Amino acid sequence: MKAMLLREITSLKENPTPLSFEETSDPTLNEGEVLLRVTRCGVCHTELDEIEGRTPPAHLPVILGHQVVGIVESASELADGHQAARFQSKQRVGVAWIASACGHCQYCVSGRENLCAEFKATGRDINGGYAEYMKVRADFVHPIPDAISDSEAAPLLCAGAVGYRALKLCNLHDGQSLGLMGFGGSNHIVLKTARHKYPNSKIFVFSRNPQEREFALSLEAAWAGAIDQDPPEGLDAVIDTTPVWGPVSEALKVLSPGGRLVINAIRKEEADKEILLKLDYPSQLWMEKEIKSVANVTRADVREFLGLAAEASIKPEYQEYEL
Ligand SMILES: [Zn+2]
Ligand SMILES: [Zn+2]
Repeated sequence: MKAMLLREITSLKENPTPLSFEETSDPTLNEGEVLLRVTRCGVCHTELDEIEGRTPPAHLPVILGHQVVGIVESASELADGHQAARFQSKQRVGVAWIASACGHCQYCVSGRENLCAEFKATGRDINGGYAEYMKVRADFVHPIPDAISDSEAAPLLCAGAVGYRALKLCNLHDGQSLGLMGFGGSNHIVLKTARHKYPNSKIFVFSRNPQEREFALSLEAAWAGAIDQDPPEGLDAVIDTTPVWGPVSEALKVLSPGGRLVINAIRKEEADKEILLKLDYPSQLWMEKEIKSVANVTRADVREFLGLAAEASIKPEYQEYEL
């Protein structure tokens, strides 16, 4: 099959085309796995963190890509004869960042498989979707609702599902205000989701990019400004999707008492980290302000979100490219 391979950890500044288009062997199924013919694979910022080694792949070469939509081609036999049979041949399914977890640790048994020490990520710890075919455990694929096309589904599997997890972690009540720091792949879907879940909440968008600010206003954000601009009111929660530290400092300044900052980033870059040394405790941390990160995603997050997206017609903006 044809695939895009990452052969070495590299710097994008020195090597702007780090993936190579190659002929490689087709996946062979182990017990409990299904083979998918990939029709779409979303592109995610996390892949830059993999390529540059901030969250390095478990083995090289590796096929990246963790927002995979495909058709079930075949399923392996299972010892109990059941699981793989859940999927009919030609069924349309998705694969998200979560490729597997141990299933029996304290996190797995309490609905927090995203925190499992054995968490394996699609396109990092197992080969992902920048390929004609991929294999994955049958119990870690998700049926795609009919109302969502392949191209619409792909970004919902990470940008959407992890954004949905971030939104849940905000503990927002309808009517409370929400800030979004950065307005790219994930937060534009979060805005659409938040408007559905919290119709009386105002949403404030921070972006350094004027076109993104305009886009946010077109999606009925209450306000859009630059990262260091003050919104017209204090915010009960903020979701930060940027790769740097400046927005963390700015978000803490505009949080209301008891407010929560949720950082939706697998890794932050080091460039502006010294900003943290200038944090002002009384204005940025006191008054019970909280900081929480989002780690990975659970299968329940993905399935809940796909259901919500189908029901509320939450669709991402997207562009298509050939493999
Ligand atoms: Zn992702
Ligand atoms: Zn576990």
